[in-house]
Amino acid sequence: MPLESSMFSARNACLIFSIAILCAPCVPSSARNQESIFELIRLEHEEIEKSSHQQHSFGLSSLAASSVESQSIDVTHYLLQIQLTPNESGAAGVVTGTVTITGETTGAVSTINVDAQPNLSIDSVRLDGSASNFRRKNTFVAIDLPPPTFPGRPFTVVIQYHGPGSGPGSGGGGGLLFTRHGPDSTPVVASFSEPFGAPLWWPCIDNPADKATAEIEVTVPEGNQAASNGVLEEVQTNADHTVTYFWREDSPLSTYLVSVASTNYERLEDSYTALDGVTRMPLVYYVYPEHVAPARAKFAVTRPAMEIYAGLFGEYPFLGEKYGMAEWPYGGAMEHQTITSISSSLVASVTSNNQATIVHELAHQWWGDLVTMRTWDDIWLNEGFATYSEVLFFERFAGISPGELLARSYDDGVVDGALGGTVTAENLNAPFDDNGAIYRKGGWVLHMLRHVLGDQKFFAALKQYATRYAFSNASTGDFQEVCEDLYGASLDWFFKQWVYARGRPVYKVSTEISSADAAGNFTVMLVVKQKQSQDIPGRENGNYVMPLDVTIHYSDGTSETRVVFNDIRKQRFAFTVSKQPVGVGLDESNWILKKVK
Ligand SMILES: [Zn+2]
Repeated sequence: MPLESSMFSARNACLIFSIAILCAPCVPSSARNQESIFELIRLEHEEIEKSSHQQHSFGLSSLAASSVESQSIDVTHYLLQIQLTPNESGAAGVVTGTVTITGETTGAVSTINVDAQPNLSIDSVRLDGSASNFRRKNTFVAIDLPPPTFPGRPFTVVIQYHGPGSGPGSGGGGGLLFTRHGPDSTPVVASFSEPFGAPLWWPCIDNPADKATAEIEVTVPEGNQAASNGVLEEVQTNADHTVTYFWREDSPLSTYLVSVASTNYERLEDSYTALDGVTRMPLVYYVYPEHVAPARAKFAVTRPAMEIYAGLFGEYPFLGEKYGMAEWPYGGAMEHQTITSISSSLVASVTSNNQATIVHELAHQWWGDLVTMRTWDDIWLNEGFATYSEVLFFERFAGISPGELLARSYDDGVVDGALGGTVTAENLNAPFDDNGAIYRKGGWVLHMLRHVLGDQKFFAALKQYATRYAFSNASTGDFQEVCEDLYGASLDWFFKQWVYARGRPVYKVSTEISSADAAGNFTVMLVVKQKQSQDIPGRENGNYVMPLDVTIHYSDGTSETRVVFNDIRKQRFAFTVSKQPVGVGLDESNWILKKVK
């Protein structure tokens, strides 16, 4: 398909590679396939969670949150120039690089600490154009700023370094992974940084709230392509049988979202037409040659998913750049800004079409990349949002009821089970230690907010949140404030019980239907009891406050749903109806993460 975007100029040497056109149509699933969709999504979700959990637990657990998070500095731009050289076997390799960090102080700072894990050897440091002394600490490089120090002091730090790019004991779970793929055991290298792995392969101020633009220049052995963030400006062939890819990301990004991946990729293309009906943007996929067919089939869902999300959340945030995916040798998938990494084992898998994964990562471009959590304890603002975005996608793409999907595929149904924790992470050094709460319960939180606000205000809140914090960072409090602006009242009661407390409500319901009175009316009595035992911090009695759907079914086969506001442990509701009721159901559309006894 011809590309009209000006970013792909004749200068773009990628045109020398074979370009395949993605044209496989996406066929929405019919209603009768819903059963298998529920099961597939549940299994896919388990697989993804397991593989990403493995990475986060055995790979990066030895790394702690940045030691320099609270520095009063603001990085504005990174120039990262690296050469990736696999060794003979391809099973390991070396990164040699120079990073130029441009920024300014925001307080009286006399020392800049640049995060760099001990596996990186620091060869030289320059400050503002001159050679500088530095102190190599365990996990960072300390560079003294000569006086006078004052807020707003600009600085440029240039660090030359080299190293294996992965940490001792990281077990292939963080930093650069050099390995091989395919029938010819072709070398492949890719980075993985979330949450704290960036300083394993490049020195940076590893604070997600300090976003900066970036140029990423990657030199690799000839015959390879290197995928990275933003726009590919140029490809340069070098005399020493290497090739350099010049990438530029003009949208500020967090350090953990910077990505490089390189091998003998085939490059597939599709295109996305923006909401304005005119602007076109390339969808670019870097896939292993042996996976072209499954990648073409699976990745075709990206375009319709992007159309759905742009309609719901606002236009794709990086429309002037691209959206891409690159296969990588890690498990799972990772939402690197404008270039999601996706496991080669998923691309090759024949048991799933991986739609939940592909759309999850795409949704992160809004929730995680455009708006990034300010601190790691709010990681649910990335993961809960991306998880609920899966549900929103299937609701629109396949006509599936969001509540039923959540109840069937995103809930183990156990009060103290996988979703039992608090949605905010409690340990800053291990933000992914409770994935059931961060991902799935976080997704439920949005679903429940949708019921409380109603569709119109809920989706307006999502757009408002994306707009207010675009290219920046937000906390749970910031999100709550946006929701309250739309709701028109405090939502403390909601966030207190669902985000900051463990568990879920346990309802016990009893009903009684009277005989017809003289006027032919019936009375339906409903008693709702809350039986959960956990505390809700700051709330006496630990009772949940929620609007509850009560559905009354009639003998003529019709039904009606009324909403009651339940805010105490034992509450009685009475409804007068004019038709013969035959049954009463509580929250039949599954708007609430609950247990019913
Ligand atoms: Zn995610």
